[in-house]
Amino acid sequence: MTLDVAWAVDWTRRTAEQVAARRVELTELDRQIGDGDHGENLARGFSAVIARLDALEDAPAEVGDVLKLVATTLMSTVGGAAGPLYGTAYLRSAKVTGVDALDSRAVVAMLEAGLEGVVARGKASPGEKTMVDAWTPAVEAAVAAADSGADPAAVLAAAADAAEAGAVATIPLVATKGRASYLGERSAGHADPGATSTALVLRAAADAAGA
Ligand code: ADP
Ligand code: MG
Ligand code: MG
Repeated sequence: MTLDVAWAVDWTRRTAEQVAARRVELTELDRQIGDGDHGENLARGFSAVIARLDALEDAPAEVGDVLKLVATTLMSTVGGAAGPLYGTAYLRSAKVTGVDALDSRAVVAMLEAGLEGVVARGKASPGEKTMVDAWTPAVEAAVAAADSGADPAAVLAAAADAAEAGAVATIPLVATKGRASYLGERSAGHADPGATSTALVLRAAADAAGA
């Protein structure tokens, strides 16, 4: 599968489907350590994304156009922490994707830009029980896969695998950023909702690539 604009659209549609399918699960995670709206926030955002995609008069020309549409829509429709965080991640990613299809290096650059966006916006470090704990191992795994010659789909699969492991690894952590940090020690024992949704987003990217 070529990682072109059709892939980016398919990634986005798969993300929206998975967010809808796992809305209750994500909200339930956020009920444990936050305010119980993460699934609703993302479902609202991604259904707006799909509505805007469907309403476009001209099909998006480039991967970056799709990512930018996702970014601006999430920023304007998702309240709370996740909207600006994902919005910034998608916006930064949109800027580094070139005109044509993404090769393995471009996939790495896209993911690195996404992580940079999350960190620029939220100022979290690894280990603080946030989506950074899924993004960081995802980027590391993508770099390692690309270095060993993996094709773009395999790079995305490596990133998704690492993000899923990273999300699970947030369970024992005590949150020190975001709403979950208000719980202190009581935030331990539950997976971080944003790390879980990050793994979902990256898995959708890999699935769309046929990985
Ligand atoms: P809110 O907390 O405003 O209700 P959401 O429930 O939609 O927003 O999103 C919560 C998620 O946002 C958390 O699970 C965490 O992954 C992420 N998050 C919160 N604060 C930060 C931060 N400073 N840096 C990175 N991610 C963060
Ligand atoms: Mg919340
Ligand atoms: Mg909220």
